Amino acid sequence: MSDDLKLVLSPEDINRRVSELAAEISQDLGARDLVLVGILKGAFIFLSDLARQMTCSCYLEFVRVASYGASTESSGNIELTKAPEMELAGHDVVVVEDIVDTGLTVRWLKDYLAELGCRRVRVCALIDKPERRKVDLELDYVGFRVPKGFLVGYGLDYNEQYRYLPGVYEIVRQG
Ligand code: 5GP
Repeated sequence: MSDDLKLVLSPEDINRRVSELAAEISQDLGARDLVLVGILKGAFIFLSDLARQMTCSCYLEFVRVASYGASTESSGNIELTKAPEMELAGHDVVVVEDIVDTGLTVRWLKDYLAELGCRRVRVCALIDKPERRKVDLELDYVGFRVPKGFLVGYGLDYNEQYRYLPGVYEIVRQG
């Protein structure tokens, strides 16, 4: 049985909002030594679109964390499987995340980056999905609030499928 996908965010919606987010971040942090840190794999498309709409110079970096496994909810056991390669101490950092769900991943990463000596750590999430939030977390830049549902597309996967889709969809039936 194949999955039914319901459109939640069109490519046009995303493009418009990403451009606004890039302008906001550039204005707030552009005079600083800014690094955008994308969380692989889900945020790679968001980061690449966001970066190309920035109006200030910035460095691009990636980390990878494991926590999800095959389940659809974060286990809370977070492990860094790809560390940043550039020296981040002293930099302003914006963590670029596809979707914040329980908040455990971003909470952990913010603490990790603060320990590395980053000057300031902010968070930019394409989607804030607050329903299952488990930790108190301030998101500095949010693209969209989506109350619930399992989302795919624009970098987000279900068992590695659907990342390539240019819009964001909810899986309404999984087969
Ligand atoms: P957390 O629960 O720690 O906030 O989110 C951990 C990770 O789960 C996120 O980085 C994101 O990749 C993934 N995730 C959370 N909700 C969804 C969802 O609706 N769809 C997909 N594909 N991934 C999700």
